[in-house]
Amino acid sequence: MSIESINPATGELIERFEPFNQQRIDEALDRAQQAFRQWRVASYDQRATLVRAIARTLRAQKGRLARVITLEMGKPIVESEAEVEKCAWNCDFYAEEAQRFLAHEPAPSTAQESYVAFRPLGVVLAVMPWNYPLWQVFRFAAPALMAGNVGVLKHASNVTRCGLEIERVIAEAAQAVGAPTGLFQTLIVPGAEVDKLIKDPRIAAVTLTGSDPAGVSVAMAAGSVLKKTVLELGGSDAFIILDDADIAAAAQMAAKARFQNTGQSCIAAKRFIVVEAVADEFERAFVKATEALKVGDPLDTATQVGAMARRDLRDDLERQVRASLAQGAKALIGGEALNGPGAFYAPTILTNVTPEMPAFKEETFGPVAAVIHARDEADAIRLANDSPFGLGGAVWTRDTARGERVAAQIESGAVFINGMTASDPRLPFGGVKRSGYGRELSSYGIREFVNIQTVWIGPAKGATPAPAAE
Ligand code: NAP
Repeated sequence: MSIESINPATGELIERFEPFNQQRIDEALDRAQQAFRQWRVASYDQRATLVRAIARTLRAQKGRLARVITLEMGKPIVESEAEVEKCAWNCDFYAEEAQRFLAHEPAPSTAQESYVAFRPLGVVLAVMPWNYPLWQVFRFAAPALMAGNVGVLKHASNVTRCGLEIERVIAEAAQAVGAPTGLFQTLIVPGAEVDKLIKDPRIAAVTLTGSDPAGVSVAMAAGSVLKKTVLELGGSDAFIILDDADIAAAAQMAAKARFQNTGQSCIAAKRFIVVEAVADEFERAFVKATEALKVGDPLDTATQVGAMARRDLRDDLERQVRASLAQGAKALIGGEALNGPGAFYAPTILTNVTPEMPAFKEETFGPVAAVIHARDEADAIRLANDSPFGLGGAVWTRDTARGERVAAQIESGAVFINGMTASDPRLPFGGVKRSGYGRELSSYGIREFVNIQTVWIGPAKGATPAPAAE
């Protein structure tokens, strides 16, 4: 069956792709292995030359790439352009820092000299989502290439053209600087074929960014063949507004944190937990900030909220909102899909949301905010942690020490005080609970797909302190 790319803003078919047959997959994996044999021994300077060239190519082609993103998944064009820029920044960041992150670490022992080295693992399979179709890929690809690994990408089916554009950009950069071919290839395969790929002996490890059901499936397949995985999964981040918060600033940021990327971000604030004393004031300001958002054609540079990426995803969101309303939630604004051929959904704020409702206990992946009233700080922390997910979170208070005290009690991979959770190449990114495990970005991300190798150089200087066993 062919894979289709559909413009979610118009419902029109853009392109059809034939999935790879086994022969094409074999050719690609053989090429990747061959590339790895050359790349693993390349110096950091050689690797950085390529990764910097990728950054330059991304910047030079920003307009073209941004348009492909917006056409395939519907986000506002201004956000697509910013995404391409961020990918280039990440490439420059790792080109600059990788050698320091992966420098040998001295580990004194009975040896004349002993140290820890970080060696590449091989061909890493990246299974990626559509919501940031370039950023999700480059935050894996840049550190992977700098560590000496080689990548193969299975992109979300609805952004197949983005996957092919990424392959092309990296190939053009490689050609320009004389790097090997086959360092990064896109495989057109449906999600159902991923198990087989993971089990292929030419694949050394796998990283998935996606939903938690896909995470379970990838972890099971990788576990059955003992391969390392990193899983970046869903989230239902809490955005806590305490009674001493700057409400105007919190509400303004709340609108950005929820509706950016048309609400389709794993680290979007999804549950706005507000202490009762300031709930009315926050809701009024949050509604005002949301009403001001311009919804419309994602190719228009004035648009702030575009189309959702697929109609079936909008149907899921609609179900979650309807069920929450039926259980007693109230829509302060929005609450329904917008008419027309595109997958548009009105920016929505639900209040009186409680833990039994889908808007609280499930991840809502679209422009829908859930406001939950908390009695006090302790109740807010309890509600924030009453979630199967633990990706990001935010706490708003004028008292930074209080914010830090609350942050320490939040079960999530990141907490931002008086800000919104956002990714940054310099900061580790990842989750706990059903949001996955492992980290991307920073020095932690580049160390996920390496062999931490102990090197011991004899002869021994003295006796080993403990009885020699293993
Ligand atoms: P998805 O349906 O899980 O798809 C993600 C990727 O996994 C796609 O390439 C998909 O391929 C593939 N896939 C789907 N089912 C699979 C299976 N059973 N086994 C192996 N691969 C499978 O997620 P999505 O709808 O694209 O993205 C939204 C989700 O990603 C949200 O839950 C969001 O929170 C999460 N996300 C997490 C992060 C993070 O860093 N933690 C970042 C962004 C998004 P097909 O498209 O061919 O099905």
